[in-house]
Amino acid sequence: MSEAVTMDKLVSLCKRRGFIFQSSEIYGGLASCWDYGPVGVEFQRNVKNAWWRSMVETRDDVVGLDCSIMMHPTVWKASGHVESFSDPLVECKVCHMRWRADQLEKQACPSCGGELTAPRNFNLMFKTFMGAVEDDAAVVFLRPETAQGIFVNFENVVTTSRKRLPLGIAQIGKSFRNEITPGNFTFRTREFEQMEMEFFVKPGTDEEWFRYWADERYKWYTSLGMRPENLRMREHAKDELAHYAKACVDVEYLFPIGWSELEGIANRTDFDLRQHSKFSGKDLSYFDTQTNERFLPYVIEPSAGADRSALAFLADAYTEEEVEGAVRTVLKLHPALAPVKVAVLPLSKNERLSPMAREVNDKLRHSFATEYDDTQSIGRRYRRQDEIGTPFCVTIDFESLEDNQVTIRDRDSLAQIRLPVENLVDTLKTKLAGEAFGTDSLWAGARA
Ligand code: ATP
Repeated sequence: MSEAVTMDKLVSLCKRRGFIFQSSEIYGGLASCWDYGPVGVEFQRNVKNAWWRSMVETRDDVVGLDCSIMMHPTVWKASGHVESFSDPLVECKVCHMRWRADQLEKQACPSCGGELTAPRNFNLMFKTFMGAVEDDAAVVFLRPETAQGIFVNFENVVTTSRKRLPLGIAQIGKSFRNEITPGNFTFRTREFEQMEMEFFVKPGTDEEWFRYWADERYKWYTSLGMRPENLRMREHAKDELAHYAKACVDVEYLFPIGWSELEGIANRTDFDLRQHSKFSGKDLSYFDTQTNERFLPYVIEPSAGADRSALAFLADAYTEEEVEGAVRTVLKLHPALAPVKVAVLPLSKNERLSPMAREVNDKLRHSFATEYDDTQSIGRRYRRQDEIGTPFCVTIDFESLEDNQVTIRDRDSLAQIRLPVENLVDTLKTKLAGEAFGTDSLWAGARA
């Protein structure tokens, strides 16, 4: 994390440039709910695409899935969420603020110093009613994790994909938790997106696969430009482990609020499949036709937050530097994550420049996500592109009309090169593939 970055600066940049807005802002906002704006939606999608590409598209041993958010209520009994997915909650008897008992340093209200109630367990699942009658029979929950949809589809996927173990099933989707203490921008919200993969393996090979996935997941962040000094792996102590887990390691990031969890990689053993076999009465064991063995697979789960990863990538990319006596704010995002890859900027809004600039934009947009901008001064437009992390700006000036050449400006070095329009697509492709950034990026071959 750069010294300069604070949560306030990130929130302000996100609002100013259209990354993230407060939900229902014109009504005063809804606590801890956020909307991704035009730039943010592209950025967030790039984060998810990069994850999907690395976890599913580039592998033979992982397939994808997209389950419904509402599931049969028994799923959450089997998974243990009805019984134990809760935080200990205390309430201040004076100001009625609620706090997580396990996060308090003193037995007094942190806000007013008042006396606290005894802790009681507060279930974090959102409940709603399915159908017209609000009776108990129709109660359903919004899923608090995407993982359970994967477990209950294990047999469907194995049968239809004709794959053998080890096999991973990946899913990206919304999850909901009625968090007691949401906050810190998009770090902890009540509605968020998860990127989860359940990797089913033969018992006995689980420890090796656990290590493998912990390494892979760390590498994913650094391959997308996250600075290693801001990342660390934290192994859970035995007494910290969830009751079903044999081992767990968190990828932690040095957020402006300090070191915090970005992703958890857990060895969930055969807990989930065993529970779902028991509650559904369906045998979810796996028969290996090559060894003639039947067993209940163990599961290694890398579970990441899409919003939390996006926030970490933003914090990591946020830079303030002095250029010619003025402060330049720039998001040094990896090109694969940048919402706009190339901005096309005629030097001024001039009817002689527009046709050529439009033509250049039309040519580029087949290969890259571009943005055409001819409003305001060129200096202001560069500042906007710097703040949304656009790796390259292409400028068309009056000379371009004569010599058919344009200028490319590199976001990070601020170096400029002039080149013929016909070389533009190829040059930008090589530069975006890593030349200018010195990384062997996932971007190569990915969607523009
Ligand atoms: P925490 O300890 O921060 O509450 P957790 O250990 O409960 O997280 P998991 O259940 O392991 O989280 O969820 C996996 C990932 O989902 C987390 O690493 C995080 O990136 C993301 N995540 C979980 N809860 C939230 C939330 N309320 N808001 C945003 N992202 C979340």
